[in-house]
Amino acid sequence: MERPELEQVLGRVLGPAEPEVGCDVCFAELDRYVDVQIAGGDADAAIPGLRAHLAGCPACREEYESLFALASSERS
Ligand SMILES: [Zn+2]
Repeated sequence: MERPELEQVLGRVLGPAEPEVGCDVCFAELDRYVDVQIAGGDADAAIPGLRAHLAGCPACREEYESLFALASSERS
């Protein structure tokens, strides 16, 4: 028998290593995430899984981009 590929496919879909938050958490933490990022901190460590969610959720990414643009312009 060949080695089954299902396991590999599942592993890729479920993303074994990286945690991912849901839209609710993303929405609640997005302000803080952007703040930490603007401040030069490690936003991915501050809110684990948020970046993974942004990568896969166009709606939240759009929200993030506008928040980030707003926060950057306020700070400069
Ligand atoms: Zn989302």
